[in-house]
Amino acid sequence: TITLTRISKSFGATRVLNDIDLDIQAGEFLTLVGPSGCGKSTLLRILAGLEEPNTGEVRIDGRTVNAVRAADRNLAMVFQSYALYPHLTVAENMMTPLRLRDLSWRERLPVAGPLLARAKHKSLRAQVEETARILEIEPLLQRKPGQLSGGQRQRVALGRAMVRKPVAFLMDEPLSNLDAALRVHMRSELAELHSDLGTTFVYVTHDQAEALTMSTRMAVMMDGDILQLDSPQAIYENPSDIRVAQFIGSPK
Ligand code: ATP
Ligand code: MG
Repeated sequence: TITLTRISKSFGATRVLNDIDLDIQAGEFLTLVGPSGCGKSTLLRILAGLEEPNTGEVRIDGRTVNAVRAADRNLAMVFQSYALYPHLTVAENMMTPLRLRDLSWRERLPVAGPLLARAKHKSLRAQVEETARILEIEPLLQRKPGQLSGGQRQRVALGRAMVRKPVAFLMDEPLSNLDAALRVHMRSELAELHSDLGTTFVYVTHDQAEALTMSTRMAVMMDGDILQLDSPQAIYENPSDIRVAQFIGSPK
């Protein structure tokens, strides 16, 4: 469980988040949805540790992580731009974050180092192969990002995040660079991946259709507030507020 308590954030004189309270349940697919500029990315970045809140607390499984660096929160961030290393192969891209993080002082010793590194490398390779199988990118492992389509790059970025076995995936509009057909295809792939992995997904989008089709719960944000948090069906059928109804396109 991830808990955000009274999170507020201002940039200069502009208040972007107003005392947000949010409980994210383990294993759910939560979308943060709302119009451009309402504070979705800021909230996700605070959760990831990439931005500091002015007030409030972020807790992961009961532990306060405000002072924990982004790299140590064991959350996987998947961005709109895939941020793959162009000079590395797909397989190397998928290994990179672990390789850097997991090198202990033992592995830097001249004798133990290479042996330990090789053993770890082997299990890492197995992990990469397993992940590639799930995402059906095995045939692409030796290619470079420049030789992939947008959808394939997106899958590699996801795969790289999966290899770390994170507590949660945080995604900020990960499909917005894809063409419409591929976007629809990737929506169902992501939903399927979520049910296969059973890991928490927190997904930011300004596309209400995307949120309605994929999420188990939606948080509808506007002007730095969460106006409603519920299942897509409940929000569609019983919007709490005229602004929610208008944004979602509910019949009432
Ligand atoms: P979009 O759907 O367009 O991505 P969003 O809901 O993700 O929008 P945020 O990126 O969270 O919105 O931004 C919320 C507000 O905070 C916006 O008005 C934005 O201009 C402002 N903002 C975000 N980051 C900064 C920053 N580093 N410095 C100043 N203002 C910022
Ligand atoms: Mg944004």
